[in-house]
Amino acid sequence: MFSGYRFEMIVGCMSAGKSSELIRRIERARLAYLPTIIVRPATDTRSKPNCVESRNGLASQAIVVDSADEILKYSSHAVVIGLDECQFFEDDIVDVVQNLLRQKKKIIASGLDLDYRGKPFGPVPVLLAMADRVDKLLAVCRKCGSDFACRTQRLVQSQETILVGDAQYEARCIHCFEPPGEYQLRLDLPKTEQAVPQLVLAAMQGVELAS
Ligand SMILES: [Zn+2]
Repeated sequence: MFSGYRFEMIVGCMSAGKSSELIRRIERARLAYLPTIIVRPATDTRSKPNCVESRNGLASQAIVVDSADEILKYSSHAVVIGLDECQFFEDDIVDVVQNLLRQKKKIIASGLDLDYRGKPFGPVPVLLAMADRVDKLLAVCRKCGSDFACRTQRLVQSQETILVGDAQYEARCIHCFEPPGEYQLRLDLPKTEQAVPQLVLAAMQGVELAS
């Protein structure tokens, strides 16, 4: 019925423009007269009911479901299916996506690839492996201003994997990201201008470089 990829994924940290890219692609399908739906899990309480909203003000109607199987109830007439906030679905989303692909639907899914610890988030890694096309979007780091933010920094103390609310997070680059203690990944990289002299000095002294 249409050419191109059948399962596209848009991932990245918060504020990377994932929902706005999802809405943009769904709008293009609508312009091509393809029946579309956007579905999002009920766990995401930030958007208005029955709506997907991006931070830059785009919005589109959405069906809110409590579980992934419910998607099958609403998708029979749709040719292109948008799935927003995929990290909040349970693992059964993988079977549902496979089922929809067997029905020759086109799926455009978006979600956080990593949680606040910098660990793969829910079913997203499996969906990424299944996707035909993957776009990993970057945000602006709210600490240093670089264009390469790829982590979602939690700004409050909590052990919950899911803690919904934009005010409690900000986008950070890998150098500014501070994961919780037990998963601490120390990246004390020297600044570029300091790196060469230190390396030369270490080599001259025969000192083994710290890994
Ligand atoms: Zn940074």
